[in-house]
Amino acid sequence: MLSLTTLVAKTPKAVVKRVPGCKRKLLGTYDVKGYPVFVFATGCSKGVLSYITQIGTVKPKRGFGSPCIVHCTCPFFTYTLEYACAKQGSSYFYNALRRYPKIRNPRAMPYLCKHLITVLQTVRQKLNRYS
Ligand SMILES: [Zn+2]
Repeated sequence: MLSLTTLVAKTPKAVVKRVPGCKRKLLGTYDVKGYPVFVFATGCSKGVLSYITQIGTVKPKRGFGSPCIVHCTCPFFTYTLEYACAKQGSSYFYNALRRYPKIRNPRAMPYLCKHLITVLQTVRQKLNRYS
């Protein structure tokens, strides 16, 4: 399982550049086995919130250093990142086929889509309440 710190560091600059203009709305927080999962609606096109973007942390007191689970329903995450993140234990197979992304992510590098980057600021504020 990877931390948010690691996933942010691995995220290509080309992805981060696409974040301005993206919108987020916190839908809620739920607990899985005692750890918080933050659920957002996100979108980067005309303010339409098309995707569900989630971040869960196993040890919230450790902030972004905590092992984490990430997921987004956008096509980029589904076809480029879901396999790579799930293989590291930091996501789960939901939308994608359990198939190696040999064209879109040939080294199966786990990192964050622009929607996951978009929600980080709010997640950091929420995690600060645990420390
Ligand atoms: Zn996404």
